[in-house]
Amino acid sequence: MSVVAGTAGVQLAHMLRYLRHGTLRLLKNLGIFDGVKNSRWRRQRLLIICYHGIALEDEHEWRPPLYMHAQLFEQRLQLLRDGKYTVLPLAEAIERLYRGDLPPRSVAITFDDGTYDFYAQAHPRLKEYGLPATVYQTTYYCDFNYPVFHLICSYMLWKRRGQVLRAGENAGIPQVLDLRSAAGQSSALDHLLTFARQERLSEEGKNNLAARLALVLGLDYPELVRKRVLQLMRPDEIAQLAREGVDFQLHTHRHRTPLEENLFLREIRDNRRKLLEMAANSVITHFCYPSGVYRFEFLPWLKKEGVVSATTCESGLASPYDSALLLPRLVDTSSHTPLEFESWLSGVGAFTSRRRRSKLPLPPTQLIEIADSS
Ligand SMILES: [Zn+2]
Repeated sequence: MSVVAGTAGVQLAHMLRYLRHGTLRLLKNLGIFDGVKNSRWRRQRLLIICYHGIALEDEHEWRPPLYMHAQLFEQRLQLLRDGKYTVLPLAEAIERLYRGDLPPRSVAITFDDGTYDFYAQAHPRLKEYGLPATVYQTTYYCDFNYPVFHLICSYMLWKRRGQVLRAGENAGIPQVLDLRSAAGQSSALDHLLTFARQERLSEEGKNNLAARLALVLGLDYPELVRKRVLQLMRPDEIAQLAREGVDFQLHTHRHRTPLEENLFLREIRDNRRKLLEMAANSVITHFCYPSGVYRFEFLPWLKKEGVVSATTCESGLASPYDSALLLPRLVDTSSHTPLEFESWLSGVGAFTSRRRRSKLPLPPTQLIEIADSS
């Protein structure tokens, strides 16, 4: 029964998407995209685009909502150029949004987390197109030359999807890894994370566990580490990019937002201190909620720390009527067709899509915790 309902649900979603796409195509052909794009309404609004990663390997197939193929990212930049959009540095864009003097077709580009692929894949392309970007950098893992533990484990398990493997007696790794379904991969990942937490493994300990998992899976872990898959940028890379004009802003030190004020403030302060060590002349007053998750009590805490803007992952164009500490963004993913992306650039997307809300509480599976230790 539930399988039938599930299939019907998928079919309905496909049908709605097809209809939506048809509507967008019609609106574009009728000149509505151009009309909205050049309207007074659009001129008062800013589209803040959010990216996470640009794949080094095949991460876009592993997590399409987080990773995008480099070629697709380049197509997006071309659409921005062809559509004569004005891509502004984030700080200037937000100032002008509230001052009411945004240029026509304003856009700001942001990246969450600051993984190495920003350095290797996104930055060179942004540079080629002459576009500014802000990286909301989480900093805890910057000092380790290791991949982010839970992400690399999830990625490696996905690489062996469809298989059943025997780990035997291997501490922390399930004896049998049944990776034939997403649920099987997720259960193996839970096992690894629980072990790491219970044993209070250090970062080195977690890295060793990931390396042992790779052996069981028959994957070349040193090669993944060498390629910097799922690693954050290192301090020297952040320093270099900051010198080249990349803007680095707050995303908490450990990619989390504790519900206790003093712990929350510590996250902001540690994050800011680390960023200033790497990018000394930066003015760090902009924030992005990790995983887009916020609570209203965070707002006065952010103000207290001198934060002037904060972005969520709720879909929308930022307007001067929005709270500066709850600015919506377009989370651009591989699943958006060029037409859908253009609908957002023009502003039409704000009328044809539902606004996605991401306020707490969310099921824990939707939260991305970068660091477990404090
Ligand atoms: Zn994040």
